Amino acid sequence: AVDADFLRRWLGTATESIEREADHLTELDSPIGDADHGGNMRRGFRAARTAVEQEPPDTPGAVLVAVGRQLISTVGGASGPLYGTLLRRAGKSLGDEPTVTAAQLRDALRAGVDGVAQLGGAVPEDKTMLDALLPAIDALSGALDAGGSLAEVLAAAAQAAEDGAKATIPLRARKGRASYLGDRSIGHQDPGATSSALLIAALAQTAQ
Ligand code: ADP
Ligand code: MG
Ligand code: MG
Repeated sequence: AVDADFLRRWLGTATESIEREADHLTELDSPIGDADHGGNMRRGFRAARTAVEQEPPDTPGAVLVAVGRQLISTVGGASGPLYGTLLRRAGKSLGDEPTVTAAQLRDALRAGVDGVAQLGGAVPEDKTMLDALLPAIDALSGALDAGGSLAEVLAAAAQAAEDGAKATIPLRARKGRASYLGDRSIGHQDPGATSSALLIAALAQTAQ
């Protein structure tokens, strides 16, 4: 089962992964953006980790809400409000239960991703973070229906998110800064889809 400690460990792993990959995320944001995605995400996750360490929330929902709040107030750009919405919505959907099942986590992530789609107005293949997040949730759900353990369903989600991020390379961006480039956005991997895949990979690592 997933409890507050599980999501606090996820936050630590996710922050380390974002720190390790920050330069790469910024490199991806250079040809089709403004070269700040790595810095934005690093600032946000460091602030979130500090906030959660100083005042550890005691339910999984409260951890996600706290991380989302920090991201909204520190990340800026397009990705701050979008990731903030994702995590706050997911956290609220978990309510104040001390432990939640993989199915509840799936439903919460779906609610969060719906919030991202509503706020940003993107649809699949617009070359955004949704192109990693939506396949991840579908894979998680499929693995869950097939009777997978928490570790197995999160591993399936992580693989789908990574594949989804790679599949943004041939797409033409229709949302965000990259869309200003039109056809010139083709041939580059979307930075937000790449960071989404890192965050989901951290979830899978936490369950191992
Ligand atoms: P900014 O573009 O404001 O500098 P970031 O560089 O931090 O913000 O984040 C860029 C990422 O945000 C993109 O790679 C894309 O994945 C995501 N993004 C931008 N606009 C949208 C949107 N409308 N819907 C979903 N994701 C979006
Ligand atoms: Mg940027
Ligand atoms: Mg920016």
